[in-house]
Amino acid sequence: MKKIIRERPSYYSEYKCTGDTTCIDNCCNLWVLPIDKKTSDYYLAKEGEFGEYLRKNIYEENGGWFLKICDNGRCSFLTDNDLCSIRLKDCEDSQPFICKVYPRETNIMVGNYRQDRLLIACSEVARLFYEDDRERLEFIKTEEEAEGEEIDDNLKEKTSMLLAFRDGMVEGLQAGVFDKSLFEAYESTESLESLFEDVNYFEGHEPTETVMNNVRALIKEAGELRKQFYEKVPKAKMWMRKTAAYFAHRQLLDTVQDGSIDGPLISVFRSVHILELICLSIFKERGVFTVEDMVMSAYTFGLTFEISMFNINLMKEVRNKSKDKDYPDNENSELRPYLYP
Ligand code: SF4
Repeated sequence: MKKIIRERPSYYSEYKCTGDTTCIDNCCNLWVLPIDKKTSDYYLAKEGEFGEYLRKNIYEENGGWFLKICDNGRCSFLTDNDLCSIRLKDCEDSQPFICKVYPRETNIMVGNYRQDRLLIACSEVARLFYEDDRERLEFIKTEEEAEGEEIDDNLKEKTSMLLAFRDGMVEGLQAGVFDKSLFEAYESTESLESLFEDVNYFEGHEPTETVMNNVRALIKEAGELRKQFYEKVPKAKMWMRKTAAYFAHRQLLDTVQDGSIDGPLISVFRSVHILELICLSIFKERGVFTVEDMVMSAYTFGLTFEISMFNINLMKEVRNKSKDKDYPDNENSELRPYLYP
């Protein structure tokens, strides 16, 4: 056994899926959904009519099993009244792992550290996040024992240095230390236009594509709109700082897998700038901006970026118009989600 440190946002245990029609979306749409091995083994072995029903609605590709998606993008197990037929006919335990955990991402590992997250790509998570009036995000660390050998001291030390840097950044973002980078980075027309170039590269998909098109269309007037936005919406800066802290808390961990902090660091600020543009497009349309609009903006951002590995990787790149031809082709990209079975 080894000792690990687990960290979760303080609102982690408050999250509850509404599981009904009050949800503005349905997360059983639009995804390429892999089935974890334990569940696919269960489906393949299940006897009787229910077993046949399960096998009729899954498919195998490259050795893995996936849920079939209907032509309208809905999971083939989804009933007309938006309920999961596997859960109705059997039990929650027989749903694929991803269906049980989403919108959580659990057990993100770095050395002896484990992070559990909640994605703002779920509107209920976004609601929990922004309707909480506390200006600062809090995270809860606990010590646990886990299977496996103790992590070596060198890796533990590197992990603790990365986490110390990350925690300083999270604190600094919330205290306003990085306000200049958050709120003044795209002041000049030239920078805005280069951002415009960037936004065109991100892959989109309904339901967020309409909002993203509005975002693409308003880039040239974003400078003026931004001034009005921060004047008229007193909580806007606090929401942006808090969101930046949320991004930093998760994205800086990618330093380990990426082998460099450059991309993760860039992606923190770019995430906030793109989220800001989404807010501006809603503000422009409505003339006002409420916490409900902030929830919708974050949810739109989450659905477009948090669940697309292609967009996440693109956000980490340093933008350079002269290298446009080198940007990856997004035709082969897939919506993830991450899987940590
Ligand atoms: S298996 Fe059930 S919970 Fe999972 S995506 Fe399909 S309908 Fe939704």
